[in-house]
Amino acid sequence: MNFIETRGNDSTHPLTVTFSHAILNPIASFGGLYTPERLPDLGKDFLQRHLNSSYKTLARDVLTAFAIDIDANVMNEALSLYDQFDNPSNPVPVVKVLDDLYVSELYHGPTRAFKDMALQPFGIVLSSLAQQRNENYLILVATSGDTGPAALETFKNKKNVRVACMYPDGGTSDVQRLQMVTEDATNLKVIGIHGDFDDAQSALKGLLGSDTFKQKLKQKNIHLSAANSVNFGRIIFQIIYHIHSYLELVRQKAITLGDKVYLNVPSGNFGNALGGYYAMKMGLPVEKILIASNKNNILTKLINTGVYDLRNQSVIATTSPAMDILISSNIERILFDMFGAERTKDLMQQLEKNRHYQLSKAELEKIQATFAADYCENDEGKAYIKRAFGKGYLMDPHTATCFKTYETCCKKPLKTIVYSTAEWTKFSPVIANALTGEVDAKDIDALKAIAKTAGIKIPAIISDLFSKEITQKTVIDKQDIEKEILAFL
Ligand SMILES: *Cc1c(COP(=O)(O)O)cnc(C)c1O
Repeated sequence: MNFIETRGNDSTHPLTVTFSHAILNPIASFGGLYTPERLPDLGKDFLQRHLNSSYKTLARDVLTAFAIDIDANVMNEALSLYDQFDNPSNPVPVVKVLDDLYVSELYHGPTRAFKDMALQPFGIVLSSLAQQRNENYLILVATSGDTGPAALETFKNKKNVRVACMYPDGGTSDVQRLQMVTEDATNLKVIGIHGDFDDAQSALKGLLGSDTFKQKLKQKNIHLSAANSVNFGRIIFQIIYHIHSYLELVRQKAITLGDKVYLNVPSGNFGNALGGYYAMKMGLPVEKILIASNKNNILTKLINTGVYDLRNQSVIATTSPAMDILISSNIERILFDMFGAERTKDLMQQLEKNRHYQLSKAELEKIQATFAADYCENDEGKAYIKRAFGKGYLMDPHTATCFKTYETCCKKPLKTIVYSTAEWTKFSPVIANALTGEVDAKDIDALKAIAKTAGIKIPAIISDLFSKEITQKTVIDKQDIEKEILAFL
């Protein structure tokens, strides 16, 4: 299967590209994205056939349907990373929390957040491609917390790939920072920046646009790439767990094969939700996809009113920081799928130029036939955490936002699958505050307080971080980054 461009072709890019081209060179004509030429149809008996498949077998068959140019042995190696999740025979447990609400836990990988679901296998695929082509890649990452650890973990000691990861010093949780600064592979460089996430991100953009930087990389024979969430090499692995979660509900006899369900997704850059949309288009019985946001509710407004409006908006810091996003990049692939390349280019250019676009009434109706949305305030989220805990379920503040969409968007008496994107250990101060009223706790104290209240242990993978040696000590000003990365290379 080949890939085409969401904003059409500018006649300097190829008209269609392979999967491997799309993941190594993710930026398409006019700044658009690569997207499959058509989505494969899984066929009528696919779900039936996979009722008792392992996660890996299901994954292999979903990927096979895309007929991509990745060797079977590379793909097998990539999928074998799910064997390192907590339970290799079921890397994504689905847990009943309320009568009609099930939580699909996407955080059982090495960094305890759902970024591992896609970045773990993606690391193998990218490094294998680089080796096959005898090319060297530098992956630049700017992170507010979860992508950094997951990218470092997947690329550490991988051949032909180096990672430079920038984070705002003081702008991540202690656990997230420790996960990054204790990584000691020689192909990894972690750089703290004096400033906030926007500073880290603008530093990255500056590098991508710097001619001297690119020239220096060329001299060293290094290609620049990114592992961000618009890369289709990540999206493709995010289709699988939606199908798996549905099959889990059938196996648990919560539904019968063919029944529709709600997919309920805590959304930021829309990669997770896009995976659900593709699964639905490929044949998964889905009533609607519910898009949960926090106070940065630009997607709630888009889906409820048809307006995407960045004017007079700035990012608000919330208790679900991985969703503190205003430019939700993967929405572009939905626009393309529903309205075509010409209209997508038009809308995205309006957004870039006027910081605003408005869908037509017919377009909005089409969006609303598939999506519904709402947003959750910090205090509401904490109340949901407390209530779920009362029912014996411990969840993180991102997952909690889905309990709002569950309450307001489920119009039919169908089962809902909530996607849990982080383990409680990653955002412990917020959870401790919700459960015990404790304020401004440091991560280690919050972890202990929750563990005591819940009668559970802090997982060793987290508690060990606090005694590990800090190997990545660089913390610098934004303007010194280029020099620092060149020295590392
Ligand atoms: C990245 C992330 C999200 C948002 O996922 P998108 O695919 O970008 O919509 C939500 N929760 C957590 C914990 C995350 O790390």
